[in-house]
Amino acid sequence: MAKVRKGDTVQVITGKYKQKRGTVKRVLPESNKVIVEGVNIVKRHIKARSQIRQTGIVEVEAPLQVSNVMLVCPRCNEAVRIGFREENNEKVRFCKNSACGATIPDATGWVRHTAD
Ligand SMILES: [Zn+2]
Repeated sequence: MAKVRKGDTVQVITGKYKQKRGTVKRVLPESNKVIVEGVNIVKRHIKARSQIRQTGIVEVEAPLQVSNVMLVCPRCNEAVRIGFREENNEKVRFCKNSACGATIPDATGWVRHTAD
């Protein structure tokens, strides 16, 4: 069960983008990476493939290691460690900040119905 999911807000904890927050645009589970909006921008050279598309440089987000980001708890607004617990027979994520302890929703809803 992935700790970070699409739509989550995360904070970068290391590197050039340290402290920066953004929304997870994509999770790449097979490589343990995430693409975070506005983070890890790289320039890509684009070659024209048609008459319409022009050759040029675009800026895109390169994937980051999941271990380089922490989830931002929507309740305490801190970059936190998370845990999993059972709630109403469902496995949910929760904030490990001892002063908070909130259940952390998916972007799709407060609690995700999941089998994994
Ligand atoms: Zn919290």
